Amino acid sequence: MNTTMINSNRIKEDKSNCIFCKIIKGKSPVSIVYEDKKVLAFPPIQPVNQGHILVVPKKHAPYLDDLDEETTLHIMRIARKIAAAIRKSKYRCEGINLFVADGDAAGQEVFHFHLHVYPRFEGNGFGFKYDRSKHFLYLNRPQLDEIAKEINRYI
Ligand SMILES: [Zn+2]
Repeated sequence: MNTTMINSNRIKEDKSNCIFCKIIKGKSPVSIVYEDKKVLAFPPIQPVNQGHILVVPKKHAPYLDDLDEETTLHIMRIARKIAAAIRKSKYRCEGINLFVADGDAAGQEVFHFHLHVYPRFEGNGFGFKYDRSKHFLYLNRPQLDEIAKEINRYI
């Protein structure tokens, strides 16, 4: 399998079946935290904890690189405000994660881009499980230079 095949593994979901588009159009129930012309923010139906909020662009875009730059920046602008609000709220919050699952292999389940903003605290019982001995690569400087050069080609 070549790189093009690996990187073209994208699910093309019909946006008429998109749950977030239904929510945005008012055709599905939602508890709105924040709304403006470009984004809607709301708790998912199955939050990981109280305070877990999604920031969703109103225009259907399956993946991060389907978003225009201004919308992308605006999503982060609103996520920052929501993170600050979560910290002030009554919900337990000792830290905040911002999380994007971009693609099936990354754990994306709804193929309409969304940024998760959620509080973290000691013993919350979830998170990335990295075993340093199993999951980390130990690369030398030429190998790191090669990665930097390869990714930079496409910026
Ligand atoms: Zn959608």
